[in-house]
Amino acid sequence: MRFKLPFLLILALLVGAITYAQNFKSPAEFLGYEIGEKFTRHHRVMDYFGHLGETNPDRIQLKEYGTTYEDRPLMLAFISSAENMANLEEIRQAHIANTNGQGNPEIAIVWMSYNVHGNESVSTEASMQTVYELLTTKKEYLENTVVIVDPCVNPDGRERYVNWYGQYKNSAHEVDPNSKEHHEPWLNGRANHYMFDLNRDWAWLTQKESQQRIKVYNKWLPHVHVDFHEQQVDSPYYFAPAAEPFHEVITNFQREFQVTVGKNHAKYFDANGWFYFTKEVFDLLYPSYGDTYPTYNGSIGMTYEQGGSGRAGLGIVTSLGDTLTLKDRIEHHRTTGHSTLEIASKHAKKLNEEFKKFHQTKDYKYKSYVLNGKKDKLKALTDLLDQHEITYGKANSGSIRGFHYSTGKTGTLRATEKSIVVPVDQKKGTLVKVLFEPKAKLTDSLTYDITAWSLPYAYGLEAVATENSIKYEASADGKNVNNNPNLTDAYAYIAHWNSFSDARFLAHLLKNKIKVRFAMKPFTLDGQKYNRGSLIITKSDNQNNKSFLTTLSTAAKAYDKQITPTNTGFVEAGKDFGSYYVQMVPNSKIAVLTGNPTSTLRFGEVWHFFEQQLEYPVTVLDESYFDHVALNEYDILVLPDGDGYGNFLTDSISEKITEWISNGGKLIAMGGALKSFAKNKSFPLKAKENVKDSTQIAPNFDYSQREQIKTEITGAIFKTHVDTTHPLAYGYDEVYFSMKLGSDSYDYLEKGTVVYLDENNVEPVSGFAGSEAKKKIGNSMTFGSINHGKGQVVFMVDNPLFRGFWESGKLFFANALFMIN
Ligand SMILES: [Zn+2]
Repeated sequence: MRFKLPFLLILALLVGAITYAQNFKSPAEFLGYEIGEKFTRHHRVMDYFGHLGETNPDRIQLKEYGTTYEDRPLMLAFISSAENMANLEEIRQAHIANTNGQGNPEIAIVWMSYNVHGNESVSTEASMQTVYELLTTKKEYLENTVVIVDPCVNPDGRERYVNWYGQYKNSAHEVDPNSKEHHEPWLNGRANHYMFDLNRDWAWLTQKESQQRIKVYNKWLPHVHVDFHEQQVDSPYYFAPAAEPFHEVITNFQREFQVTVGKNHAKYFDANGWFYFTKEVFDLLYPSYGDTYPTYNGSIGMTYEQGGSGRAGLGIVTSLGDTLTLKDRIEHHRTTGHSTLEIASKHAKKLNEEFKKFHQTKDYKYKSYVLNGKKDKLKALTDLLDQHEITYGKANSGSIRGFHYSTGKTGTLRATEKSIVVPVDQKKGTLVKVLFEPKAKLTDSLTYDITAWSLPYAYGLEAVATENSIKYEASADGKNVNNNPNLTDAYAYIAHWNSFSDARFLAHLLKNKIKVRFAMKPFTLDGQKYNRGSLIITKSDNQNNKSFLTTLSTAAKAYDKQITPTNTGFVEAGKDFGSYYVQMVPNSKIAVLTGNPTSTLRFGEVWHFFEQQLEYPVTVLDESYFDHVALNEYDILVLPDGDGYGNFLTDSISEKITEWISNGGKLIAMGGALKSFAKNKSFPLKAKENVKDSTQIAPNFDYSQREQIKTEITGAIFKTHVDTTHPLAYGYDEVYFSMKLGSDSYDYLEKGTVVYLDENNVEPVSGFAGSEAKKKIGNSMTFGSINHGKGQVVFMVDNPLFRGFWESGKLFFANALFMIN
């Protein structure tokens, strides 16, 4: 039965008092098997929580907060004593008032997130047992604690794994690690439907699950947030305190409390003879995790990692010869869950005091961030800020001095009433500092993730960070009122091409059968200047389209585009509309390769880009039948990043693709796909070699780990140059800040290098790059394009679609699709 919350709640209220006690069942009694004997399907987990809500309406309330891409419900359980639950909203308000220094609340708020990673499937099982015991044997914690449980943050990812496991599991599972049930196929792993890692998405909110969750999260801002995970089978359990580097904003109390929690867990693990480790691997820097994001919002944010993950199934033999069962894994997560609640309940008063202090102290070097940019780009940023409930406002006109992002030095930004000010002195001030600061301070270069993410670079905005507070006017209501009038009859209509939002508008027109041209040269008409890439929509091209004007008007309103009608194609400067330099945007049929050659995450980014961002249809072609596909049915083929191209690009497949390009196909090759093309003599692409001297022998293991990082770039931002005359760069300025995820690099192309890193800019503007890596990336191509026969190849060395958050890079991808002919 499909779980229907409102109905269950009403039912619970009506019959709760009667059924309570006699019908209240443990997970085993309800499900008909002991927890850990099998994986519980998501709908049954929802049913069990529904049962808890029905039988304990005074102590547990359920809230459906959204649905996933595959339409599964996302649900939170709020659990506390009957007295607290009767005052739940008052408790929440008092807690949030504490961020303004008001009141002295003493109730601890603990949020526990289970199964954010799909195939780390133990935690949803553990959530049921944990909550059941919380309502029975551990109910004393609830006297002064509100517990918020998300039993499954990523239902689509978990069901993908659980469904697959059910299909391949031996009858009475097989513990031999070689058995198929321990080897997930491609499209495996931790990610959600679109292969996004939701534990990298807390700050960027590109995914539906994150967007819906953050609304409730911001309402509560818990004192403690725990993210339950799994790691490789042989790893002992990991819990707090976390590893260095810690971001510098993390307070002494936040550090100390991690130790307090860790020691409490250790007490139970020691008593049971279980192994664990702390202070290693899992650092607190990158702001988009389920531990750091809460930490930067005043919480004690923690990751707990059980050994197991997508390999362990119901049981598996470890390398030491022990058998690790699902029951063991549940037991460990159950233990840390309760231990967390025990310690939070014990220190509830202190947690409240420190939470208040956290929100009073925002004494950071930079007090305000001031940003300039085109309307669409500012809008993209303020949309994100709105979701984080970050306050911002309009600047007053004038010069503002501060650290200037594009020069990396002290400089001046000319503010107008369109400029945006983001103050640090606000409830979300610490988060503002972390997301906006030009450089995150690294206490150690050995980190688990990217080391730079600064939003002005990611959104392609001009910005200064100021050491004094800049005055601003609160934005009216943050929402733009779109007053674009309906279009009337004209010779043609012109729209600018500056932002990814323009590309979405174009995609919408193409899907609605509107024919659109674009200008390859700048032009002036009626005194107005238009840059390369500007869209020209003529009446004559669309004369057979009866709903032409209505469609165009509606689209202009929906995408908030200013469309300028003109009664002539005769320009004052530049090329007339009938010129060769005004070309038709092709209505292309696009395919993306999927399967083993590609990385699941990188493929997912392309897939999500087309369906959820650009909203343009794409055919997903699997490598397993690629050789049977008639490629001439497609105009564009995207090869996402991956390291399996060596096996895929056999001579015959390479020949097939090369011939298709010669005949007019357009290939977009990303990351790892380029490596194989560099080996193909038909294409003028040359990979740069590592300059490292490998003859040196490391004196010890520690040294060699440190040496290794010299060749690496761990997600850092670089200043690149742009050839703005090339179609791949329409809408861009001369400088682009690129997120580089590794040191793979390629020489300049003889012709067609569009974005490049010269030898003077090998020092990242933010983030870490090893000394050897820096030698290698000088004078290398970032994006480029070549003609081959009648077709083209676009090379993307860096990934503008990485995790969907590098907003300023997305127009390059749109240009590759629409502007290169
Ligand atoms: Zn995980």
